[in-house]
Amino acid sequence: MSAKTGGDRYGLIGYPVSHSLSPAIFEAAFEAMGILASYDLFPLPPQRLASGLSELIQGGVRGLNVTVPHKTSVISLMNVLDESARLTGAVNTVVSVEDRQTGFNTDLGGFADSLDALGAPDVRGEKILVLGAGGAARAILASLARRGPSRILVANRNMENARNLLLSIKGFFPDLKSDALGFGPEDIQTAAEGAVLCVQATSLGLKPGDPLPAEPSLFPRACFLFDLVYGPENTPFVRKALDLGYQAVDGKEMLLRQAARTFSIWFGREAPLEAMRQAMNRKVFSRSG
Ligand code: NDP
Repeated sequence: MSAKTGGDRYGLIGYPVSHSLSPAIFEAAFEAMGILASYDLFPLPPQRLASGLSELIQGGVRGLNVTVPHKTSVISLMNVLDESARLTGAVNTVVSVEDRQTGFNTDLGGFADSLDALGAPDVRGEKILVLGAGGAARAILASLARRGPSRILVANRNMENARNLLLSIKGFFPDLKSDALGFGPEDIQTAAEGAVLCVQATSLGLKPGDPLPAEPSLFPRACFLFDLVYGPENTPFVRKALDLGYQAVDGKEMLLRQAARTFSIWFGREAPLEAMRQAMNRKVFSRSG
């Protein structure tokens, strides 16, 4: 539970939620902006999603973040879906106003904001490679497809998942040129030829001892490498890429930017980015011990 009480109530639903950085990030934002509000963790097992959400709304909660495993199932409980939620098939932010719940997905815009903030190359008319075909990859694909690349290739361990993901994205972007491929080093090296951006959207790198998702040397030297995974230090993939002279970043900026987008949706004003960044970094580093 949050230490602060009084004011409007916000929070995170998911299962589990105890690992979340969100309370620290949003409490720092509230404090920086002089907003009297609280941000709490609401663990809801899947079978309690509908009743738990309804209780929170009846209890006056104004906004929620949504995490695993509810990002898709919560859609059917929304009255309105923002375009970002329709494109990604997932909701990570809810606004509740007078019994009307609207679902958004701020991963999509947060990724776009982080690309710009980190100086990633302009992808219009360029080739892009995405590793992975899960929920995060879907938000990345939707975000990138909006920028008019010449082609997006998706490499995934289970090719069927990559094909299905592309099929669903092409429902929104029928002109998008794309291909699904396997996850072997040859597949990745061939696909990466001429790519200006590669987004690493598998979960590899989250756990100590995970293998690298791919050897960075498989990518052209000019390819910007964006790993969605984050931890206190750069991920092993990013570390190795930087050692080899690539431009490479981890997922912390995206995490921050999606939270900033959520703040703006809830409060209709720009988020206090630096206060949120400091809180995120403090929390990420405090976990490393
Ligand atoms: P999902 O579980 O939906 O997808 C996982 C993906 O990783 C699938 O493509 C899966 O392939 C692949 N994968 C898992 N294990 C392996 C393996 N051993 N070898 C090869 N591929 C593997 O997860 P999400 O898409 O939700 O999240 C992916 C990552 O992105 C997570 O680490 C998460 O922390 C990070 N993330 C970061 C965010 C940020 O703000 N920085 C936001 C959202 C996510 P397959 O289909 O074959 O199973």
